[in-house]
Amino acid sequence: MAAKKLQAPRGTFDVLPEDGQRRRELLRRTGSVLGRYGYRPFETPVFEDTDLFARGVGESTDIVRKEMFTFEDRGGRSLTLRPEGTAGVARAYVEHGMHKLPQPVKVWYAGPFFRHERAQAGRYRQFSQIGVEALGSDDPSVDAECILLLSELLEAAGVHEVQLKLASLGSLDARAAYLDKLRGYLRDNESRLSEDVASRIDANPLRAFDADHEGTKEVMAGAPRLLDSLSGEDADHFAEVRTLLDDAGVSYDVDPTLVRGLDYYTRTVFEFASAKLGAQSGVGGGGRYDGLVGQLGGPETPGVGWAAGVERILLASEGNLGGFPAPVFVAIADGGTRREAFRLVTALREAGVRAEVEQAGRSLKGQLKHADRLSAKAVAIVGDGGLEWKDMKTGEQRQVSNVLEAVRIAVGVDA
Ligand code: AMP
Repeated sequence: MAAKKLQAPRGTFDVLPEDGQRRRELLRRTGSVLGRYGYRPFETPVFEDTDLFARGVGESTDIVRKEMFTFEDRGGRSLTLRPEGTAGVARAYVEHGMHKLPQPVKVWYAGPFFRHERAQAGRYRQFSQIGVEALGSDDPSVDAECILLLSELLEAAGVHEVQLKLASLGSLDARAAYLDKLRGYLRDNESRLSEDVASRIDANPLRAFDADHEGTKEVMAGAPRLLDSLSGEDADHFAEVRTLLDDAGVSYDVDPTLVRGLDYYTRTVFEFASAKLGAQSGVGGGGRYDGLVGQLGGPETPGVGWAAGVERILLASEGNLGGFPAPVFVAIADGGTRREAFRLVTALREAGVRAEVEQAGRSLKGQLKHADRLSAKAVAIVGDGGLEWKDMKTGEQRQVSNVLEAVRIAVGVDA
């Protein structure tokens, strides 16, 4: 009996070569855009102590309550595969005393993240995010810069026609009074709320704005709005962020119902959505988190950042992220040898030319067909008659005297 075939776990996927190329190209463009803004690459572990996320992301969030991949290691410690990147970066900032560096510290990261969600198109259990964090400044220009950065990155990735939603959640102190008002309103309307929202009136009343439940949505349409209750300083901060975005020509919609699924946000929050993505329309989002570093035992340090989903960017992209140059294919005809062909393909590669060589024992006809499938720009044929060069675009074929001449043609010196 044939052995049973195995499959990748639910909600995960394999990146096949065509997609691998697009992902690489996206990261290359990301590094170039982010470098221009002064952000430097940063890496944190893929798993962290569970406590980091419980404290950082928030006990009452969906992520911590339902979506974490948590396990015990052999020493009995509780670890969790990171569901998001900000908590890890904030932990590292504290651990390495990065508040002593010139501020703000600006970093970017890319890598896998894990959430136990209902898997569907654009929503996976292992997915990749690109993210940035700027720690150590509460200047509104850092918020604006961050948003501009994501907007430019999406453009560079070929994701056009995105909608940017923007709001401010105020600072933690100022928000407390508003949250009490909102709790009062939710309690007055408790019978019409979904069970989930009703059970979190105390812990996380803001999430009610996010609910899909009809009754809850009706109640929330009349709920007091955080944006109307901002303190003077928070309102000024938000106005300045908007002015800077206006000056930079970034268009956005102020959305008073925008709340994000993580507890650490303060002041500016934002989200980019693409209509091309259907139900899972969020491409990237983030905001300010002025309390997080302090909450993790570090000095009170403001911060702002975002994360964008690599798979969603690629789904929404209309750009050409292929970027793989057409190869030269080295074919072996009657009388040609593997050694000659291998020497030529090596010389081409050393000269910086993408080149491939016959490695499957095909007939010459089969090799030319294969070169076509590879979209080769030329085929170099080693055989009885010496070395021949066939330009696949023009169909022109000519005799070449040696490897050096072939390399010169391939790099365009002798075109
Ligand atoms: P969040 O950390 O929830 O703000 O998510 C930031 C971005 O990551 C989203 O806008 C998505 O593009 C992406 N993302 C979040 N969760 C998933 C998931 N389960 N599968 C794929 N992409 C995701």
